[in-house]
Amino acid sequence: MVTDRLNRPLKDLRISVTDRCNFRCGYCMPKDVFGKHYSFLNSNALLKYQDIERLVGIFTNLGVHKIRLTGGEPLLRQDLEDLIRRIAGIDGIRDIALTTNASLLTSERAASLHEAGIRRLNISLDALNPEIYARINQVPVPLQDILDGIRNALDVPYDVIKINMVVQKGVNEDDILPMCEYFRNTGAVLRFIEFMDVGNHNRWDLDKVFTAREIIDLINPVYPLEPIRANYRGEVSKRWRYVDGQGEIGVISSITQPFCTDCARARLSAKGEVFTCLFASSGYDLRPLLDGNLKDDEILERLRRLWLQREDRYSMDRMSNLDSPSDGRASQKVEMSYIGG
Ligand code: SAM
Ligand code: SF4
Ligand code: SF4
Repeated sequence: MVTDRLNRPLKDLRISVTDRCNFRCGYCMPKDVFGKHYSFLNSNALLKYQDIERLVGIFTNLGVHKIRLTGGEPLLRQDLEDLIRRIAGIDGIRDIALTTNASLLTSERAASLHEAGIRRLNISLDALNPEIYARINQVPVPLQDILDGIRNALDVPYDVIKINMVVQKGVNEDDILPMCEYFRNTGAVLRFIEFMDVGNHNRWDLDKVFTAREIIDLINPVYPLEPIRANYRGEVSKRWRYVDGQGEIGVISSITQPFCTDCARARLSAKGEVFTCLFASSGYDLRPLLDGNLKDDEILERLRRLWLQREDRYSMDRMSNLDSPSDGRASQKVEMSYIGG
């Protein structure tokens, strides 16, 4: 096990398998920036599955047991099930999860991902009102496709299915209660995420954050809630249960109650750079090490040193930096679709 300068172990690895997406959610890949002329990675620049498999094996020797596959939209990457099977076969991996917008989640796909080794699925859905949904994702994918995708997932025995809703003030807070109504008693856990200042282009502003407190205050009078204990130390989502026994919800308050003190997560970009924070401006490129035929224990040693030096705590520092948005960091952050959300 290795701990960083703030005494945080390395436990989770998020792997972005592609920087591409078939959606253009304004808070992540705004259309005016990620348009026709945006240069995405070529397929030969993507880390190959055998390299990802090898790196995951090395990461397990540093304490990583949980993997999440993400992107961009991970279901766009060819034969993702092959990668999942490879990772599932690695000693020390206890949990493989996937985050998707569910637009490509046919019933066959929902079953084959599970069969390959995915046990937990996060599906992003920001509204049940079709017009609001389309306004957020900016592509002509019918909302019904996503609802069908969720239904397909629910038909498979995944351990956990979570539905992630990013709440933006003035955009989709009116959909919070309909989302509660729709997902109560389905077995899926609805999670509300505060809108974050990821990347450089989403025009984030504190005034656009519908806070965790506001979310709970809105739901509680209609569907009374009570807090429940975290599943494990460092769980980013605060858990609540409906008092009438119809399930639970979660609230991720990255803005108003940051959780950097427990952050045990590294991210691997689609082309092979390691980032120690979602808000980092640069990553540590593993590609030259892979191409230079370094041995596993040499790569492990580089990663160990990287983690030992880590002192990221962007979200905790954010509040004090709000008065000086041009402090230099704001223009240099890596994009979330690239690094993996
Ligand atoms: N395309 C997949 C999806 O949307 O589920 C996976 C990648 S996406 C970057 C992962 C998660 O990041 C999604 O749940 C998305 O809602 C969330 N996300 C993206 N931009 C965000 C932002 N500015 N604030 C909060 N969450 C954000
Ligand atoms: Fe694509 Fe997910 Fe980003 Fe939306 S949040 S643009 S679906 S990567
Ligand atoms: Fe972790 Fe960085 Fe997010 Fe803090 S801001 S919780 S260190 S990823």
